[in-house]
Amino acid sequence: MICTVVGARPNFIKMAPIILELKRRGIPQFFVHTGQHYDAKMSTIFFDELNMPQPDDYLGVGSGSHAEQTARILTAFEAVCVMQQPQLVMVAGDVNSTLACSLVAAKLQIPVAHVESGLRSFDRTMPEEINRVLTDHIADLLFTTEASGNENLRWEGIAPEKIHFVGNSMIDSLHTHLDKALARTPWIAFDVPPGAYGVVTFHRPSNVDDPATARELAHALARIGSTTRLIFPIHPRTKANSDGLWESLEGVTLVEPLGYLDFLGLMAKAKFVLTDSGGIQEETTALGVPCITVRHNTERPITLTEGTNQLVAPQADAIVRAAQQLPSGAEHNIPPLWDGHAAQRIVDVLQQWLASQADESRS
Ligand code: UDP
Repeated sequence: MICTVVGARPNFIKMAPIILELKRRGIPQFFVHTGQHYDAKMSTIFFDELNMPQPDDYLGVGSGSHAEQTARILTAFEAVCVMQQPQLVMVAGDVNSTLACSLVAAKLQIPVAHVESGLRSFDRTMPEEINRVLTDHIADLLFTTEASGNENLRWEGIAPEKIHFVGNSMIDSLHTHLDKALARTPWIAFDVPPGAYGVVTFHRPSNVDDPATARELAHALARIGSTTRLIFPIHPRTKANSDGLWESLEGVTLVEPLGYLDFLGLMAKAKFVLTDSGGIQEETTALGVPCITVRHNTERPITLTEGTNQLVAPQADAIVRAAQQLPSGAEHNIPPLWDGHAAQRIVDVLQQWLASQADESRS
């Protein structure tokens, strides 16, 4: 049996197609939600909208410092593995649940599969980078989304036979749900015509935890908002650290985090997206929507070379200039294997792996 793990918002979107494909093929799985994200807007709505089954176990770890949260996941997930004895633990992305659950499995000598392996920002000040690097080095099956991931892993000495270039399961979810998302016309609720507004998300510690940087971003939003309406679904950690900074900016509509369908529909018809999210850089590339990523680096370089993404320093003048001089979307390419079938390729590899394990135990 395969133990599939989710913990936080981006995990739900990456894992849903894989969980459903395992189910469709009748492969036994034990589905765990660590509860890293836990409320209606950051968790429950995604289960409903992505048609995910209810988790078999909910660990309820909640929020806390990195150490507290990671420690709670380690303890709770070890008990799950000891009880369920899965043949394989499958994690996704770069959140604390990803690293903690991989570590538990590796110490119990349970093989680990990592979805979205090999991405590197080469910036160890990002907690996500630590989670990615460590998870990859204890994983046995590494599923990559873009060629840079294969190169990074090989350069770090990972055995090539462990690396499987399968494409991007987050884009599987996009393909499955885009028509439904557009049919909801979420822009109408904001009283803006399609193509005439920007969508904003910021939640990286480097942008929202440092008051001077956050003020710089808020200035940029107010200046852009004076000519183009901005819709900003605010992440809980951004709100918690903001001291009211993002409220009452001219032309900026601040809302609670949106469900996947409304967010996807809104993003698909945006004039541009302004973000520091990882996944949104990929979704905008798949949608052909200009993306201004307010960061010094990206672990997803294919969105720069093939897609619609550009990096902009967290400085008001630079951000405003980028929003005023949007590149034409005409020239972008869809990266290889971002075709809506990544989950099928992942489950093909898992089936072969399960068969090889069965052969080994017979011989
Ligand atoms: N997203 C959403 N509602 C929102 C903001 C984002 O459904 O209000 C989705 C978005 O489409 C993407 C994912 O959440 O699929 C990205 O998650 P996030 O930016 O929190 O994490 P990151 O990708 O940076 O790890």
